[in-house]
Amino acid sequence: MHPWTQALLALQECDARIAKIEARLAAVPAEQAAVQQELTAADAAFAAAKDQVREAEKAVKAVELEVESVRIKMRDFQSKSAMIKNNDDYRAAMHQAETCKHQVSQLEDRVLEQMGAVEAAKIKRAADERKLTEAKQRVLAKAGDIEAATAAATRELERLRQERVPLAAAIDAPVRERYERIWKKRRHPNERAFVPVRNGACGACNMNLPTQTKVNVAKGKEAVCDTCSRLLYAED
Ligand SMILES: [Zn+2]
Repeated sequence: MHPWTQALLALQECDARIAKIEARLAAVPAEQAAVQQELTAADAAFAAAKDQVREAEKAVKAVELEVESVRIKMRDFQSKSAMIKNNDDYRAAMHQAETCKHQVSQLEDRVLEQMGAVEAAKIKRAADERKLTEAKQRVLAKAGDIEAATAAATRELERLRQERVPLAAAIDAPVRERYERIWKKRRHPNERAFVPVRNGACGACNMNLPTQTKVNVAKGKEAVCDTCSRLLYAED
């Protein structure tokens, strides 16, 4: 293997590691958003549970008010009946008072039912509050992990960028610039701009190479694949 080939391969490996870390860092905002999303969902669930308790309590109050108004009506009929002399009117008033009593009893059953709904809503609210507290703890821990990993990746990226300087300096400018142009277009941890010739074909796109290209590669000259434009080298 020609010395420049080895030097360019070393630069390429460094660039691939840089791209890998860059990809990891690029994924950080999405990770943070996912963590935030978990908290937002738990927050919304707790708010909804609180609303439900309030609604259930309001329903109890409404029925209680209804009970009160029917009771007033009932007392009204009872007091009126005491002053009625006519038998038919007396019976009618007593009947209405009786109807009110029946209504009160039904409404009181409804109050009990609604109070049961309030209790159920409170249990759900307590559970959702617990979930929110747990989510907050998880989110805090995850955010810390992400921050630490990001800081480590940033340091590693800085180190690799420094490591790259002498690796790049070791390669003749025309070859390096050509390589960098190709790499810029394909920048990805699993991509390579400088690829081996395998069985007379480009090691990346697998297209057969012209004889002249193969001769140039064998001689250690700069050569590119006509199909994918990657730089080529001969494997030992
Ligand atoms: Zn190719």
